[in-house]
Amino acid sequence: MRKIALVNQKGGVGKTTTAVHLAAGLAELGKKVLLIDLDPQANATLSFGLHHNPERPNAYSVLVGKNNVQEAIHSLTETLSILPSSIDLAGVDMELSNEIGRERVLSDKLDEITGFDFVLVDCPPSLGLISVNALTFVDEIHIPVQCEFFALHGLSLLMRTIDLVKRRLNPTLEITGVIACMYDGRRSLARETSSELDNFFQSKVFQTKIRTNVRLAEAPSHGKTVFEYAPDSYGSQDYRNLSREVAGLPL
Ligand code: ATP
Ligand code: MG
Repeated sequence: MRKIALVNQKGGVGKTTTAVHLAAGLAELGKKVLLIDLDPQANATLSFGLHHNPERPNAYSVLVGKNNVQEAIHSLTETLSILPSSIDLAGVDMELSNEIGRERVLSDKLDEITGFDFVLVDCPPSLGLISVNALTFVDEIHIPVQCEFFALHGLSLLMRTIDLVKRRLNPTLEITGVIACMYDGRRSLARETSSELDNFFQSKVFQTKIRTNVRLAEAPSHGKTVFEYAPDSYGSQDYRNLSREVAGLPL
């Protein structure tokens, strides 16, 4: 079982879009996938057409011990499941602040998860306790990066946090992928950012770049993935290719 967190403390870079489409793309390849939505904004949850419902067991109710994880996992298709988010996650930093081992609560609660090939975690745009819990739980990190000015700027803070978590909490944690998102090859800035990424992260950067494609922005409001909403779009093609790369299949 590969456990991968999509992390970048910068907002709006493509974490959720990537988490949703990697989850759906890997599931289409026949992998058993669990997507965990840890962002109180619940965008990944909404993208799958699950509306806000505080009664439904969710990542928050699991974290605070109201439900066990099996009760909260919601099956979407035969191969794809989601642990939905809730707005209540917004207060979890405070609620867990006095807990012993507060960085490990998620790992502890999700310990009994089995039977998946991939567990993907969509993180919020911050490096607070929720993200640290995610980094303590997973083995791998994929960093979605928006191909624009300042894209690499915030990454040093992220790298430092990853390094600290690795040293103190999760020694086997590794960055195993960097994803160029919202790539517009007609713009020299995008090409420059992308080559800076290649220089810095080298072979960790996936060959597949996710091009800017309006279908990706439209799909969530229909409660659909781009594979269903616009199967022939660039967005669909790019995330299909990325899913193959992540699964280790030839393009
Ligand atoms: P946050 O930090 O707020 O959680 P995020 O990093 O999860 O944001 P997304 O929600 O995936 O980022 O993307 C931000 C916005 O950009 C969304 O409206 C999304 O639909 C849109 N978007 C993402 N990727 C693309 C793309 N390749 N082409 C066009 N629009 C995109
Ligand atoms: Mg998001």
